[in-house]
Amino acid sequence: MRYTSTRADLDQDFSTVVASGLAPDGGLYLPQEIPQITPEDLAHLADADYATCLSFVGRLFDGGALDAQAWDRLARRALKGFRHPAIAPLNQLAPRHWLLELFHGPTLSFKDYGLQPLSSLLSELAAHDGRPLFILGATSGDTGSAALAAFRGKANARIVILHPHGRVSDVQRRQMTTLNDDNILNIAVEGSFDDCQRIVKALLDQRSAQKREAVLSVNSINWGRLLFQTAYYVHMGARLGRPFALSVPSGNFGNALSAVLAAKMGVPIHHLIVATNANRALSRIFETGETVKGTVQSTLSPAMDIQIPSNLERLLYILNNCDAKITCNQMEEFARDGRLALPGDWRKSLPLSLESFSVTDKEVLECIKDTYANTDRVIDPHTAVAVAAANRAKGAGDLTILSVSTAHPAKFPEAVESALGISPLVPALLRDLHKLEERFTITEPTIEAVAAAIG
Ligand SMILES: *Cc1c(COP(=O)(O)O)cnc(C)c1O
Repeated sequence: MRYTSTRADLDQDFSTVVASGLAPDGGLYLPQEIPQITPEDLAHLADADYATCLSFVGRLFDGGALDAQAWDRLARRALKGFRHPAIAPLNQLAPRHWLLELFHGPTLSFKDYGLQPLSSLLSELAAHDGRPLFILGATSGDTGSAALAAFRGKANARIVILHPHGRVSDVQRRQMTTLNDDNILNIAVEGSFDDCQRIVKALLDQRSAQKREAVLSVNSINWGRLLFQTAYYVHMGARLGRPFALSVPSGNFGNALSAVLAAKMGVPIHHLIVATNANRALSRIFETGETVKGTVQSTLSPAMDIQIPSNLERLLYILNNCDAKITCNQMEEFARDGRLALPGDWRKSLPLSLESFSVTDKEVLECIKDTYANTDRVIDPHTAVAVAAANRAKGAGDLTILSVSTAHPAKFPEAVESALGISPLVPALLRDLHKLEERFTITEPTIEAVAAAIG
């Protein structure tokens, strides 16, 4: 198994790809071939636990970098901090509609399902290469806490996360700043999330050029995150043993892209509903075949307040029949003119049927309310986007729909309260958060100031 880029033909190994961000040509990494899972494999995994599926998926993509025993060890270690015995349980909403709950990790969002295994993987691989690991990221919410929880206390690794000062929620900030491990630095930048991203990008380039450390960014373009996110879809394919549909609440299109990859691998996902909030870049491109850059709107589902979904480039490459040249031209045009179009016959290049909806905050509140009234379940606003889209979908036919539940409702108590008039039950992991001491450094929004804080 070797890796290429969406913008140039490359031949890269697994260890290099998971320990880096962008490919050297500015593109995103993808495997040269998608590994196949047979119906017999799925039948064999029918009663397997989550760790077994995670280890199985890892071996398919690693090009022999680790042996089966190492993968089993890694999977079990990565899942130790999860709080549900099933890791990714199903919860029934209606006769053919279920929630796939992906909020049982240490930070209560689905980001844990990619980042916890990624951190364990990098520890295993670093054991072979020896250089220290330097991890840098910018966050507007869930990614930062999930990355910190994944890399805290790791030997030979240091993690620095930037967030815009005063612009992340109280729970989200405390989930980051109350971790007191020595290898963690939280920086509150006196600027916007875009400032944080700009600074991170410059510092990643600077530090990579020095070659003293393995430098890693933990944003949603990292291949390792996508790879491990296919594990829950493989697990569902094996458990259900029949075709199903998915509704995925989408921002950077990482989670939904993992579903497309899983379908290409042979998991019987026959229909995909891409659910967005009022930031409709994605839903527009699937409705009309093209999109233009817009300005970001704040919604009740902030983790999806995104106008340029970074993983769209990977989908485009697949739709261009893996032609890096065409994809590169399109992405450069997009950067220049802010306009992006899918190939005319794009639906034929996908292993599943796809529809997409944009869901308003008003619908989100109604959906939280209806779901509670009908099932006694309290869902978070991101999950509500998926459930509302699934309720509108036409293309799933008789298939069972799994709506992906990406966050625990207690992470977004204000939205839940305004929908239901009650607060969500606070899980043990969040209960003492407001009592713990916070540690973070405040800096000006410049590359020099942040570099000085990092040292
Ligand atoms: C990150 C996130 C999403 C969006 O996932 P993408 O992979 O960026 O499409 C949805 N919901 C929650 C709670 C998230 O944290």
